[in-house]
Amino acid sequence: MPLPDDANTVTGGCSCGAIRYRIAIPRLEDRPLHPMAPPSTNTRLPNAITCHCNDCRRSTGALLPPAMADIPATMLTVSAISPSSESTIVSGRFLDVLAEDYDAEKADADRPPYVPGTQTFLAGEESKTWIRFYHTTSCGKAWSRSFCGRCGTPICFHFKLIPEYCHDGNLPKEFEDVFHIYLGTMDREFLEKDWFAPDSEVNFKFGTPFSKSVSATAKGLKEVPKVQEFDGEVTKEELDHLAA
Ligand SMILES: [Zn+2]
Ligand SMILES: [Zn+2]
Repeated sequence: MPLPDDANTVTGGCSCGAIRYRIAIPRLEDRPLHPMAPPSTNTRLPNAITCHCNDCRRSTGALLPPAMADIPATMLTVSAISPSSESTIVSGRFLDVLAEDYDAEKADADRPPYVPGTQTFLAGEESKTWIRFYHTTSCGKAWSRSFCGRCGTPICFHFKLIPEYCHDGNLPKEFEDVFHIYLGTMDREFLEKDWFAPDSEVNFKFGTPFSKSVSATAKGLKEVPKVQEFDGEVTKEELDHLAA
């Protein structure tokens, strides 16, 4: 089932629980239009994509294209534990969201407050929490990838919108930061609901032979529209050739 039209809060985090996030999704009519899509398509955030680029592949270590949710800054808050608060746990998880007795409300009451993603997932200043930044082509306030320095889980790719990324050069009024949250970090209950099936596959031309042929043939991916970079449709001929 696609994302429902009513308001929902989606949660997730790293494997050890040092980093947790909340995505507060408003009801459909209050969700912002996708800044890169023509307004006439009425495409609203969040949506989900897969990316075949070399940077996504190497930073996640995944041979298949990682899938991520496209989250505007207005929806994201983050709670991150700092190494100095780790007095009693020296190994293992702070919390296990898959444990039978996991109580989200109780777990959240015992951890640092949730603050905007723009205060946590932008590289540039010394991190006082377990959030760390992957050093890639760029790693700063305009562009970065974050992961948990304690358990190693990649969490998201952040970028600041500039007019050239946006349809007709129009920056949205409500936000300028976008977070691509890796879907594998979302709590399982939301993945079971299938709310974030990818809507498009991007950077297809940079995919490996393996990632491209899986995308061209696998149920759940083969029917998803694909573009060579952020536009430039992948032709049926190319997909048929990969599927042969
Ligand atoms: Zn962790
Ligand atoms: Zn990518």
